[in-house]
Amino acid sequence: MSTTAAPALRAPHIVTTTAELSAAIAREIEALAPSGTAATLGLVPTMGALHSGHESLVSTAREQNDVLVVSIFVNELQFNDEHDFESYPRTLDADMEILARAGADIVFVPGDEEVYPDGRPLVKIDSGALGEKFEGASRPGHFDGMLAVVAKLLHYSMPPASVGRPVAYRAYFGAKDAQQLVLINRMVADLNYPVDVRSVPIMRTAEGLALSSRNQLLTPEQAKAALVIHRALLLVKERADRHEPLYLEDAVGLFEMEPQVELDYFELVDPRTLQELAFNCQDTPFTGEGLLLVAAKVGGVRLIDNMRLGY
Ligand code: AMP
Repeated sequence: MSTTAAPALRAPHIVTTTAELSAAIAREIEALAPSGTAATLGLVPTMGALHSGHESLVSTAREQNDVLVVSIFVNELQFNDEHDFESYPRTLDADMEILARAGADIVFVPGDEEVYPDGRPLVKIDSGALGEKFEGASRPGHFDGMLAVVAKLLHYSMPPASVGRPVAYRAYFGAKDAQQLVLINRMVADLNYPVDVRSVPIMRTAEGLALSSRNQLLTPEQAKAALVIHRALLLVKERADRHEPLYLEDAVGLFEMEPQVELDYFELVDPRTLQELAFNCQDTPFTGEGLLLVAAKVGGVRLIDNMRLGY
């Protein structure tokens, strides 16, 4: 890859149509010097309401690529609850400030009619059995909707053949959405997308709450109660680091002491497939690798988090 010097701060170019997006990508790549040499292009898909977690994703992609595209699109297809879709925060002006600071070259902000000109897609991407577990169990259709838009965004930002130089194409996703990441990796492999999917670690507040656009819907008291999620993950991680039995029910017990927090699941899974580990958490010292997945509701707000064990 060609290395990228820190770019001078400039306002990103905002585009709203796929044609403008392709043209802007081609222009940015063609403007790279020297012409003819290999280039790199990064895409960071988001739904906006950007926070420091997104910013770290964008900054990582900025460091690793010559040209950087960020998309902002609140994808109705992945919301199974109309109210959740409507109340999803939309903060474009603040988002643009963050993206200028983080050095995005192009920001793609399409409307619904651009992404779904014929309404809901007739031909769908099926997230399979994995799409029905964990988050999928309480949000039917969520992952099919997410894959539908990611499949399109990956197409829209694909380096145009017209640029006449090899372009390595990367797409960046947060480790916070572990199930999303596994499904996107599978879709890219199963459908042979020419893109390198890269993940970026979870960003948290100083107290440990994973950053999420939904956190702004929490009262200060609820945000404090939500810290039990991180405490529970750490309790198990510390045991894993010491190669002790994990006793997951101790972590589950912590939630019982926080009446404002309603636990949905707390599971130990294989990090690559998200299959529940057959590993006996009760009596056997932990030696392998695993991923703890957790989801809980605080007030009406659904929060997810995860932590890798054995790394
Ligand atoms: P969203 O706008 O919620 O769809 O998120 C856009 C991208 O940012 C996804 O790839 C998320 O996984 C990622 N992301 C969201 N929150 C965080 C976080 N706290 N740390 C790292 N990445 C995150």
